[in-house]
Amino acid sequence: MESYQGKGVFGGIAIGRIHVYGKGKLQIKKSSVKGVEAELMRYRNATLKAVGQLQKLYEKACREMGETDASIFEMHQMLLQDGGYCRAIETMISSQEVTAEYAVQEISDQYIQMFSAMNDDYMKERAADLRDIRERLCDILLGKEYAHPESEEPVILVAEDLSPSETMQMDKDKILSFVTVRGSLVSHTAILARTMSIPALVGTRFPLDETIDGKTGIVDGTNGIFYIDPDEKTCKKMRELLKRETAQKELLLALKGKKNITLDGQKIALCANIGNITDLTSVYQNDADGIGLFRSEFIYLGKEDYPTEEEQFQIYKTAVEAMEGKRVVIRTLDIGADKQCGYFQMEQEENPAMGCRAIRICLTRPEVFRTQLRALFRASAYGRLAIMYPMITSVKEIRRIREIAAQAKEELMERGERFGEPEQGITIETPAAALISDLLAREVDFFSIGTNDLTQYTLAIDRQNTALDEFYDPYHPAVMRMISMVTENAHRAGIRVSICGELGADLSLTKEFLALGIDELSVSPGKILPIRRVVLETNVAEYRSGKE
Ligand code: PEP
Ligand code: MG
Repeated sequence: MESYQGKGVFGGIAIGRIHVYGKGKLQIKKSSVKGVEAELMRYRNATLKAVGQLQKLYEKACREMGETDASIFEMHQMLLQDGGYCRAIETMISSQEVTAEYAVQEISDQYIQMFSAMNDDYMKERAADLRDIRERLCDILLGKEYAHPESEEPVILVAEDLSPSETMQMDKDKILSFVTVRGSLVSHTAILARTMSIPALVGTRFPLDETIDGKTGIVDGTNGIFYIDPDEKTCKKMRELLKRETAQKELLLALKGKKNITLDGQKIALCANIGNITDLTSVYQNDADGIGLFRSEFIYLGKEDYPTEEEQFQIYKTAVEAMEGKRVVIRTLDIGADKQCGYFQMEQEENPAMGCRAIRICLTRPEVFRTQLRALFRASAYGRLAIMYPMITSVKEIRRIREIAAQAKEELMERGERFGEPEQGITIETPAAALISDLLAREVDFFSIGTNDLTQYTLAIDRQNTALDEFYDPYHPAVMRMISMVTENAHRAGIRVSICGELGADLSLTKEFLALGIDELSVSPGKILPIRRVVLETNVAEYRSGKE
């Protein structure tokens, strides 16, 4: 057994098989073979085996999902046996006398590049299919056929690091837990793991290589420990902990339906942070008062090209309708920094976190912004939608946003489209915005404090850089003072203020936030009921007077 310390992103225990993510990306080295004929035979046998695996998957998918959805496995079979593809691999094995897995990797990569460069969306998607085929064939050739992620049993996914778009594209039902070697607690990948409410670790210094693929693993998200090949004693202890945690979760479920009200009658709204409508189930399960932050950029990140107005409208409309009158705050596109979308073709920057991101992209590419705004205005006719603008630093930006929003509405009017008049607020996540929050409060309907960026910009510490952990203090008095100041300025202007950064979910601060008079905390869905428990046990007046 081996065990490694990491940083717990979300508590809880996960026990399961380890899957090394992106092992297809691990480069297979070029090595030569003596018997070319035997190597060709090995390649042909691997292809037959892969076709057999895919046939089984096709039949299963037909039974469970219907023929249309299952057809992807038929298509993979066809690609595997495509004449040009097979010939190219066989020619490489014979002419260069290399291993079959090396030839599969090289030829597949050439095809992937060719498909990715095409203008046709359909052909672009074939690149992803080819990646799958390459991984399947290489798994078989390397004797790793059981490690393919299409196995039915959910896995503990381990990786060097995961980008937000990779995390977005994963089949969430097949993942018990994440463990990454790199990554910080406020990276967007960590935030996504929290939204999924699964035990996860980042910054775990374990030796990542293919040899751990398929082994049993245990993730203790609460204590930040990753066990590889655990012994029987550890397994027993962890199973007991898992049982206890399940019992505690059931106790928390008893809080569902209760109001978030302190012993002395102060109310606070507890809302959910989500990245897409697939997260709505956990919003219901955890009894959120609404959605306080819908990070709309994740819709863009999961795609190969700009989402259309219609596509976005359908997603936003689904969210507001599903929330049945509860408020849904949708933040406009916050691309940039660690959230990169290839098709935006952004210039390389020295300092992306301080570069062209979020509202700066929207203001410099108004056509992209107006498309999103039209979708949001249209969806707001179907429920209680509010729009939130990220990374604001000045009143001037808000005025410019208002102009672009007015144009978007005019376009809708010209088209005779129905739309609503949503509330419009901003994220306070730059020190500039916090310091002029009295001026900004006169311009908007609400504030939401983004403590992740507010902390990064106030302390001048890159939120992604784990090497600076010892300098990173999420409770720094400068940040706490800004939260207090922003709250006062908001209330003086008669507008609501919430916290939507990760600090909002910190149970050690819940009483403090109540004492400041914060109107709403918006957190990952799994954190709502634990916060509700603290709220129900708090007497704010006593806390303020130092008795609690
Ligand atoms: C924040 O900065 O606190 C925030 C909520 O936004 P994000 O984490 O998406 O940057
Ligand atoms: Mg932010």
